Amino acid sequence: MAVQQRPVLVVGAGPAGFGAALALRSRGLPVTVLEAEQADRVRPGSRALFVHQESLRLLDKASPGLAARIVAHGAVWPTKRTFFRGREVFARTYPPAGGDRLPRFTSLRQIETEKHLHAACLDAGVDIEWGARAETVTTDANGVSLRTADGRDWRAQYVVAADGAHSVVRKQIGITWEGTRSEGFHVVVDVLDDSMPLERVFHYRHPALGGRNVMRVPFAGGFQVDLQCGPDDDADRFASPDGVERWLPKVVDAKYAEQVVWISKYHYLHVVARSFVDSNNRVLLVGEAAHLFPPFGARGMNSGFADGAAAADAVESALESGSSKAIKDFDHDRGVAARFNSEAARLALSHMRPTSALMKLRQEAAATLSPVIPWMGSWLEHAPYGPRTGATASGKY
Ligand SMILES: Cc1cc2nc3c(=O)[nH]c(=O)nc-3n(C[C@H](O)[C@H](O)[C@H](O)COP(=O)(O)OP(=O)(O)OC[C@H]3O[C@@H](n4cnc5c(N)ncnc54)[C@H](O)[C@@H]3O)c2cc1C
Repeated sequence: MAVQQRPVLVVGAGPAGFGAALALRSRGLPVTVLEAEQADRVRPGSRALFVHQESLRLLDKASPGLAARIVAHGAVWPTKRTFFRGREVFARTYPPAGGDRLPRFTSLRQIETEKHLHAACLDAGVDIEWGARAETVTTDANGVSLRTADGRDWRAQYVVAADGAHSVVRKQIGITWEGTRSEGFHVVVDVLDDSMPLERVFHYRHPALGGRNVMRVPFAGGFQVDLQCGPDDDADRFASPDGVERWLPKVVDAKYAEQVVWISKYHYLHVVARSFVDSNNRVLLVGEAAHLFPPFGARGMNSGFADGAAAADAVESALESGSSKAIKDFDHDRGVAARFNSEAARLALSHMRPTSALMKLRQEAAATLSPVIPWMGSWLEHAPYGPRTGATASGKY
């Protein structure tokens, strides 16, 4: 079979791959996406909801009108509440965004966001090859040779690797990652029912759940509940459908237990690739192929969009100039952004899962004093998401 020649290949049709493909097309480059799965696949639920305003801007720049379509199908929750052992310690309702401005964020299930990205890619003329699993990848000074599991050989000047947490491309080019895995696990449940008020609720040490933390996040048409379990918790007791049916009515009305559409159990990792490009500066890693963060602060998918836009800039520049400088800059800049996000997510998690007696004491004291010292309630509200800025990147993105 003849080798399929392309200037740029994107590996992986998840949000990072679609985002990169759109950014490349907006720069006039032909793009082929190689996706391991078939077009009629079922994507996992209980993943990203929160799309930041910066991501909406980036996506709209690549595909004008895309942000408006995503926003039209998303929800913005105006109210945030925080509870500590059953008592409210923080509540705030924000005014809606005025005029035609993009909202600060929008919330919809990742599978819905992906549908909009996929449609935008088709409109933009992105070629998507379904059932094309990247298996072997080698690079040299002039480009990348890639073989897919269906036996086809591909040759590209550049490859954007967006093949997710188990990235074959990253492994093939010999890049490892470093980081840690959080203690315990989280059970994340998607409920499809739009009768719940649009409020994001975080509950520290819920008394009805044996003192476990639980968070409820609205999305368009329903809400997600994240239950934080300890290292010694029995996964079956909390993550099985029967288990969820038992604990969910302790945090929301029992009727919602019948509207559960997806249950996932996660061990959160925070890891960052040691390099974001291969030694020949021909493969650029984006999204979860390059980094994994716990979801608090919504840095995963959002920073994947920023990676994709930065990769498109770098590839365009390298193709025009014939120099690898832009690829090296990509490596540096996205590495800095990922390490920032990783540290922010680590801070958020250390607040969610305090290991030091001092932190536990500070949280207890803040909860007790919050009625008279409101900033303490505010601290309990904000700390589980890490620092506010830099959610997607450093510098340009
Ligand atoms: C509970 C939870 C909540 C989250 N909430 C948020 C949030 O609110 N906001 C946020 O920004 N992020 C959030 N995230 C993170 C977000 O879900 C991920 O960052 C995002 O899915 C990563 O996208 P990706 O495109 O890099 O990888 P993926 O979504 O994993 O996509 C990778 C794609 O590559 C394909 N593939 C794999 N191997 C190959 C191969 N060898 N060849 C070809 N194709 C291949 C896969 O089939 C898939 O289509 C959350 C995650 C979890 C678990």
